[in-house]
Amino acid sequence: MTWEPVIGLEIHIHLKTRTKMFCRCEVAYSEPENTRTCPVCLAHPGSLPVPNAKAVEWTIKLGLALGCRIAERAVFHRKNYFYPDNPKGYQISQYDEPLCVDGRLVVPGPDGEPEVGIVRAHLEEDAAKNVHTGSAQGRIAGASATLVDFNRAGTPLVEIVTRPDLRSADDARRFLQLLRQTVVELGISDAEMEKGSLRFDVNVSIRPQGSDELRTRTELKNLNSFAFAAKAIQREVERQTGIYEAGGEVEQETLHFEPGTESAPPLRSKEEAQDYRYFPEPDLVPLQPPAELVERVRAELPELPGARIMRLAAELDPDTATDLVTSGRDALFERVPGDRRAVANVLMNQFAAAGVDAAAVDPEEFGKLIEARSRIPRERLIEALAASGTPGFLADDYLGDGLMADTSELEPIVDRILEANSGQVEAYRGGKEGLLGFFVGQVMRETQGKADPKVVNELLREKLST
Ligand SMILES: [Zn+2]
Repeated sequence: MTWEPVIGLEIHIHLKTRTKMFCRCEVAYSEPENTRTCPVCLAHPGSLPVPNAKAVEWTIKLGLALGCRIAERAVFHRKNYFYPDNPKGYQISQYDEPLCVDGRLVVPGPDGEPEVGIVRAHLEEDAAKNVHTGSAQGRIAGASATLVDFNRAGTPLVEIVTRPDLRSADDARRFLQLLRQTVVELGISDAEMEKGSLRFDVNVSIRPQGSDELRTRTELKNLNSFAFAAKAIQREVERQTGIYEAGGEVEQETLHFEPGTESAPPLRSKEEAQDYRYFPEPDLVPLQPPAELVERVRAELPELPGARIMRLAAELDPDTATDLVTSGRDALFERVPGDRRAVANVLMNQFAAAGVDAAAVDPEEFGKLIEARSRIPRERLIEALAASGTPGFLADDYLGDGLMADTSELEPIVDRILEANSGQVEAYRGGKEGLLGFFVGQVMRETQGKADPKVVNELLREKLST
């Protein structure tokens, strides 16, 4: 029997608003602990929340970019639970009337262009951060104490929930890459996993190919990179396949990958929505975004990365297109003339390896370099790329496949060295022929070992004999 993975994602993204969701504390990541707090985000009795208008607008922006319908009325609910990172005893979130519903994101891949349904994108506040001390890598296991940093409490958070429409680990990775690039280009989040401003959980189940049943799923939490997520999903699919093929049953469970960074209450396997006793937040009126606001935000949307990936995938292939767009190098790619594949390869390999700022490179000069490939004068290369702030970047990588053997390139270097060492030149001409090695060494040093020694020897002998 062939098994088909059924994968859904739940993604949390911090909005990079200046202030928190319901108070005027600054959103901060690296400030000293508990220095960005106030009575509202510390839940002192009598304090009242006021929604952040920018966070609402940005959530609408993201919803529109994901093809969602923007609700005419959205309601904040209290999600009740006890945990040290949750000072109020509840989180203000959205429940049955979220701000954005029913979207989709098309993710080009080698097997076509799967459309991933977006169930909802809603707005909520983040919890504080539990910091476990006295254990390896901040893990909860073996910790001697757990401290709470409330700087994060109340940071605006968008939760995006997809339908279980993804059918492979690689599609899930491409979806996450595209979603991340989309929020970054919309300017609403840094979406940096290291900082915790982008986090995601993955639901995985499998079923016989062709069936439409939904079997018991497991949840993979706190994965720390897209590549790692793809590996973890693949491993989980294989594990479930093994269980079913041995006649067993998959049990519903949560698999934590990075203990110590959790922000949600620990889920027990039987925990369900009713356990949170959701009810409408009595201190906030429903959100009713005016149609003019929604239309203005829609009109301001830039060309989205998904559309650019589609366009480039037709020309290249889905993975290269995704890599170019999600690395932000596609703008340069589109402006560099020449063979498309060669340009893409250089941008994705040497550029990535050298960490070059694509925005600083002159596309015309760069196109000439790619065309000239084996015969480019080193000076031209350096000149063209000097603007990137890393002179000589990729000269080694790029020219590594051939030695400098062109006499028109080497001659000026040889001349310069002879001129700078006139004393040795006179001595050589006076009979000290052993100095030839000295000159060769100088040329090699000047060219960082790239010069063809045979050609250099010939040139030097010729010039020294005249
Ligand atoms: Zn506050």
